[in-house]
Amino acid sequence: MRIVIVGNGPGGVELANQLSGEHKVTIVERENVLHYSKPMLSHYIAGFVEKEKLFPYSFSWYEKKGIDLNLGVKAEVIDRARKRLITSDGEIPYDVLVIATGARPRGPTFEGKEFVQTLRTLQDAERIKEQIEKYKDALILGGGFIGLELVANLAKAGYRVRLVHRGSNLLGLDEELTKAIMEKLEGYGVEFYLDANTLKADENGIFTDKGYVEGKVKICAFGVIPNKEIAVKGGIHAGRGILIDDHFRTSAKDVYAIGDCAEYNGIIGGTAKAAMEHARVLANILRGKEDSYDFEFRSTVFKFGDIPVALIGKTKGEGKWFDEKTKIFLEGEKVIGAVVIEDVRKAMMLEKKAKAGVSIDEL
Ligand SMILES: Cc1cc2nc3c(=O)[nH]c(=O)nc-3n(C[C@H](O)[C@H](O)[C@H](O)COP(=O)(O)OP(=O)(O)OC[C@H]3O[C@@H](n4cnc5c(N)ncnc54)[C@H](O)[C@@H]3O)c2cc1C
Repeated sequence: MRIVIVGNGPGGVELANQLSGEHKVTIVERENVLHYSKPMLSHYIAGFVEKEKLFPYSFSWYEKKGIDLNLGVKAEVIDRARKRLITSDGEIPYDVLVIATGARPRGPTFEGKEFVQTLRTLQDAERIKEQIEKYKDALILGGGFIGLELVANLAKAGYRVRLVHRGSNLLGLDEELTKAIMEKLEGYGVEFYLDANTLKADENGIFTDKGYVEGKVKICAFGVIPNKEIAVKGGIHAGRGILIDDHFRTSAKDVYAIGDCAEYNGIIGGTAKAAMEHARVLANILRGKEDSYDFEFRSTVFKFGDIPVALIGKTKGEGKWFDEKTKIFLEGEKVIGAVVIEDVRKAMMLEKKAKAGVSIDEL
């Protein structure tokens, strides 16, 4: 089978890795750079990781695997009738097309947005790194995982770092967990401004409804917008992302979508871990094996400086402290989620148990 994948992010590359020995696999990627690790970008900006270490796969890896890698090539139109992908570099016929185009950052809309940048690509990271090394400070807008990864690493590296967040809770977690994470990050020197709405930005900082916050280098981490345009142009159904069923099928025959660009039942993966899991399950489905992905149950370990924080399953609502670093979320007696600060091994154990639907007495 000719499998054509649009996007060389974690979803696309993992799918190619899985299927390359069995099928003819082609990747089309608009960036002119090998696959790199986005979770490592803030570590790179802070100076903890060399640029070379961001690239897990070399050109020879693709070659040995027999993956036809087309860098610097943009997928433009899906010709569904002729089963061809039209790219900036010509047409590619497919039997199966997988859209793994990821997402882009949601930018600011307030006045002075030209003074604020976003982080998604290696190019963004290189630009931000240069500026932070010059001005020695950073002002991060947004209390999601990208904002927290950035503030923790930059503060750990000795830069003056401020985080402004319009809500009172980080990562969408409750007040107690927010406080526990804040305390850890304040240990690195991060200054927090919660419940502060940004009104406008200028060269030296931002105006919020709680006052002016200084910061020359401003990075906005307000979440992402799925890259669904290629699907929409091809008449494929989309909502916030490209709509898929529980087998990653889009509304077009033999066209699938995985990773950050895909939307299942209102859910967007949003993490590298989810994108790679989608790829593994889709690989099995394309092999004709029975497999399924639980879109509702999400889990990831983020690393804020040296502090791992694991979010497992459902982490909203009222939780119960299991020990001083672990909060468990329950539905009746059944464990449906957990947040674990610092203990990755325990997080892995809890992920298995929560997936198995054990009761709190069985932990
Ligand atoms: C700074 C940062 C830190 C992060 N930290 C973590 C973390 O700690 N843990 C975690 O699990 N996740 C993390 N993430 C999120 C994670 O990186 C994403 O969820 C993941 O990359 C999504 O994978 P994907 O393959 O769906 O899309 P992407 O990685 O976005 O890859 C999509 C690729 O498709 C290409 N593309 C798009 N349109 C076209 C087109 N028309 N033609 C050709 N190519 C196209 C893009 O150039 C891109 O390379 C982080 C993200 C960022 C930015």
